[in-house]
Amino acid sequence: MLRIGEGWDSHRLVEGRALRIACVEIPFERGSLGHSDGDAAAHAACDALLGALALGDIGSHFPPGDPRWEGVDSRVFLAKVVSMLADRHANLVNIDITVIVESPRLAPFICDMRAAMAEALGCDVERVSIKAKSAEGLGAVGEGAAIEARAVALVHVAE
Ligand code: MG
Repeated sequence: MLRIGEGWDSHRLVEGRALRIACVEIPFERGSLGHSDGDAAAHAACDALLGALALGDIGSHFPPGDPRWEGVDSRVFLAKVVSMLADRHANLVNIDITVIVESPRLAPFICDMRAAMAEALGCDVERVSIKAKSAEGLGAVGEGAAIEARAVALVHVAE
């Protein structure tokens, strides 16, 4: 059986924080504000995978108020979500992630991001798509105050 899931995440961009996107640290003067490492792409991916199996969302499994997740590398979340899928005999078919940020330009990092996400998800890089867009100056993302990420994942469940 095939199941599909969708995920979305957004974080404020502030000074004094690292900018991690899809498990890659991007050199930039601001970074994502969040309880964990604030990796919006990784969080959207987690929600897409959880959504595919109707397993709730990232906040229900890794509550932001829980000190265990403070400053945690989002690869920990991805690994736990993948293991939840494996427990249910489910495997990722493919995931398509869109990152929306006004700056920096992400094109030079797409290959590294795909490789890093594939490693975190334990799958071939061909199964991971990452696209980057700007918001054309519109809204909080367009003003550079936030980063947003969306993900759609297809999951195969053995019957
Ligand atoms: Mg998040």
